[in-house]
Amino acid sequence: MENTTLQAILKELDINLSDYQGSDIHSISPIDGKNLASLRADTAAEVKQRVDRAHAAFLQWRNVPAPRRGELVRLFGEELRTHKLALGQLVTLEAGKILQEGLGEVQEMIDICDFAVGLSRQLYGLTIASERPGHRMMEQWHPIGVVGVISAFNFPVAVWAWNAALAFVCGNSVTWKPSEKTPLTAIATHALFMKAVARFGSDAPAGLAELIIGGRDTGAQMVEDKRIALVSATGSTRMGRQVAEVCAKRLTRTILELGGNNAMIVAPSADLEMAVRAITFSAVGTAGQRCTTLRRLFVHDSIYDTLVPRLKKIYAGLPVGNPLEKTTLVGPLVDAASFDAMQSALAVAKSEQGQVFGGERKAVAGNENGFYVSPALVEMPAQTASMHHETFAPIMYIVRYSDLQQAISLNNEVPQGLSSSIFTTDMREAETFVSAAGSDCGIANVNIGPSGAEIGGAFGGEKETGGGRESGSDAWKAYMRRTTNTFNYSNSLPLAQGISFDI
Ligand code: NAD
Repeated sequence: MENTTLQAILKELDINLSDYQGSDIHSISPIDGKNLASLRADTAAEVKQRVDRAHAAFLQWRNVPAPRRGELVRLFGEELRTHKLALGQLVTLEAGKILQEGLGEVQEMIDICDFAVGLSRQLYGLTIASERPGHRMMEQWHPIGVVGVISAFNFPVAVWAWNAALAFVCGNSVTWKPSEKTPLTAIATHALFMKAVARFGSDAPAGLAELIIGGRDTGAQMVEDKRIALVSATGSTRMGRQVAEVCAKRLTRTILELGGNNAMIVAPSADLEMAVRAITFSAVGTAGQRCTTLRRLFVHDSIYDTLVPRLKKIYAGLPVGNPLEKTTLVGPLVDAASFDAMQSALAVAKSEQGQVFGGERKAVAGNENGFYVSPALVEMPAQTASMHHETFAPIMYIVRYSDLQQAISLNNEVPQGLSSSIFTTDMREAETFVSAAGSDCGIANVNIGPSGAEIGGAFGGEKETGGGRESGSDAWKAYMRRTTNTFNYSNSLPLAQGISFDI
């Protein structure tokens, strides 16, 4: 059934897979473990050629007026609207997330296109008062160069769009090395972008968007290329460290979006109806495979015995199954390695006196080779060492707390710093949580869960999450270089700081 869907999707998107066929990279559907396609990886020479082309494209594209660049992104947004269902289904087939989330991911791409189109008329610089008479200072923002994007399997298309939509309106070209687990969604996204380019006209240079297919080594080669002016890498902290080292050596900018270990505090005054829904979506959505997934839940003593049994009841009834089916809320894990990592983490939790509820493999009829699991709740006596690690699977640890400061310390104790939230109706607690002395994460929410961000805000996290920001707010500034210009319209040449230098 999946292969029929795949053929229909490829046909709708006008993709001829024979252009990519080979035996280096296999797109395996997490739904049933079947091979959707086998593809050829780019050789080292091809990677170089793609960066050559992207660099040549940049030299032209930077001179195209920004609002005109925005028009290309607007056309791309139209293609995404037209083909939202097909691309969303392909995300489900290849990454295993439920169709609602596959469609949501494409909607996120559409949203960032809309944002970027508006931004293309708002790449503002400042005018600054000069200390010298007859002088004026100003800032301009100019395109930076080729942006190299590396993306993870769990957001196979949205992450590229967050980066690329901004990069294009900012006047840059983009090379993209998607996850080796999700090459088909990348090929489809690239094809849709090329449809927009074809409608746009001849001022979009060849090489503006280059797709590089390959594994880690191919990504590493792209990162090493000196013509890549900005590397935006999304994935594990392990990968981020390797990329950061290479970029630090050649003093290149990075945007690093790495692992998270996100918490929620449920305070005594919380609206528990809302909290229960937010906890469940944040902890089991995308089968626990979001960077913002809720992994640690700190529940106040006074409500622990009300909330935790309710959660167990909900967990016991969660519909786990084929992500293409409407009633499914929890799809499969991406692969066997992910399942093994989950089982090891649960075994360690038990050895640390954790009480595990759920977590076992589930057979889904017709999809026996998929790795389906019941999401796990683990009641822990305290925040133990293993809770400091991100296991990319649906495991939510629960720990009691009695005092808000203690809960905030637990929130901040881990090495990652992506997302966090508090459920409370006490204004003092809410403000404390988002204050300078509160959560140390890039995202701190009140009365919503830690996952499911909108594109309008800057997205990213601190500490081992890498410190990068992408998407909304002023994240665009990372994709441009700032130049400060001082103009002298007087007839004399006074020096700054009153320095006298007569010749
Ligand atoms: P991964 O680190 O295994 O792979 C991510 C990408 O990096 C892949 O394209 C891979 O080929 C590439 N890569 C790996 N090593 C490389 C190297 N040395 N040089 C260049 N490229 C290299 O991650 P994954 O399993 O695909 O994704 C899951 C991880 O991603 C989780 O840790 C998750 O939290 C994180 N993630 C973070 C965000 C965020 O915004 N913070 C978003 C999504 C996923």
